[in-house]
Amino acid sequence: MKKVLVLEDETNIRSFVVINLKRAGYETIEAGTGEEALELLRQNPDTKVALLDIMLPGIDGFEVCRRIRASNSQIGIIMLTARTQEMDKVTGLMTGADDYVTKPFSPAELTARVDALYRRAGGVVQENAEEIHQPPFLLNTRNRTLEKNGQRVKLTQVEYSIIKLFMDNPGKALSREEILDTVWGRDYFGELKIVDVNIRRLRIKIEDDPTSPTYINTVWGYGYKWGA
Ligand code: CA
Repeated sequence: MKKVLVLEDETNIRSFVVINLKRAGYETIEAGTGEEALELLRQNPDTKVALLDIMLPGIDGFEVCRRIRASNSQIGIIMLTARTQEMDKVTGLMTGADDYVTKPFSPAELTARVDALYRRAGGVVQENAEEIHQPPFLLNTRNRTLEKNGQRVKLTQVEYSIIKLFMDNPGKALSREEILDTVWGRDYFGELKIVDVNIRRLRIKIEDDPTSPTYINTVWGYGYKWGA
């Protein structure tokens, strides 16, 4: 769901980046060369953010950035640079990058940058937007409907509110309390079990296989999470 491409030829740096992004709730696709990265993006058009190293064997990160931008204006691009010269930043931005991180960087710095860009790149749509598109789902917030693969899924208003909460927070673990407060209201003193019951029903409606859910995931002892 929250897919990030990591292009870095140094495997130890790449693993470091990948581990930290996964911990932050992202799904990663990895490439060691620019050519490979472009091919992977072609196969994964739902990728929201790309992290591009600059110094690479074959075409460099700037060229990769330029080629991505030639056909994709939506994706967020962050350059990973070992050098700090102003020139690199200017070149990177000129080729279409949105941001850059200078090595060595901390996991917190990296995920903060990716989060910011991910939100801007349309992973989380603005509140006043009328449609939230997270394939295979399309949520229309004006007429409060959900489609899966273009087919309408009939939802109750409560189920709709739960799905909306999930789609507003992809990849984030939501506690049962939080779901109850948001969907039923803070002054609703119902049982947490009502959350579970609604989730069970929702899974039957939206999961390919409700017995092994992939969209609404259980976070044991805590609550639920939308997506990987
Ligand atoms: Ca490199």
